[in-house]
Amino acid sequence: MDQVKIGKFIADRRKSVDLTQMQLAEKLGLTDRAISKWETGKSLPDSSVMLQLCDILKITVNDLLSGEVVSMENYQEKNDEMLIAMLKEKEEKDKMLLRAELIIGIVSFLPLLLATIFVAYNQSLAEWKRGVIVLASIVPFLIAVPFLIKIEQKAGYYKCAECGHCYVPTFKSVLKAPHMGLTRKMTCPNCGKKSWQKKVMTKE
Ligand SMILES: [Zn+2]
Repeated sequence: MDQVKIGKFIADRRKSVDLTQMQLAEKLGLTDRAISKWETGKSLPDSSVMLQLCDILKITVNDLLSGEVVSMENYQEKNDEMLIAMLKEKEEKDKMLLRAELIIGIVSFLPLLLATIFVAYNQSLAEWKRGVIVLASIVPFLIAVPFLIKIEQKAGYYKCAECGHCYVPTFKSVLKAPHMGLTRKMTCPNCGKKSWQKKVMTKE
């Protein structure tokens, strides 16, 4: 987004509706310094005042963020550009979530691994003590599991192997589904068939 262009646009529109920076600021419950910062491209109006600002300036949010009045002809195009930018952001976030999942998974599983090795090398320890150590070491993993499943459910989509439908399943269906890696056996909400559904980052 071109902040300077947006700033000039705000200034132009403000003048065309006959408002001073002070008057606009008062309507929005802000200081005239805030308005000045927008108009010089130093900052953007935040989302909490955006609708009200657009209302006063008689423009759409799309106009505001484009820094110009978007004509009906290229309205779709501008809209698509913004949509694609948003999708990209979601994709990036999803990828990060899955990486975090992998790390949390490994870290929470480590205690069990270490405890198992420790117990194997300390056969002289009383049996109940060894049992307690192993059981306690599972706790971090048990705590992590709901978070891991939540991440897996939210990040990206599952793709039905039968009809190709991509969707975000419910937490419950992910929880119940058998899995191999990130592929899960679930029922497709579109065709109703059960299949091994792959995790995909984008709707294909
Ligand atoms: Zn399907």
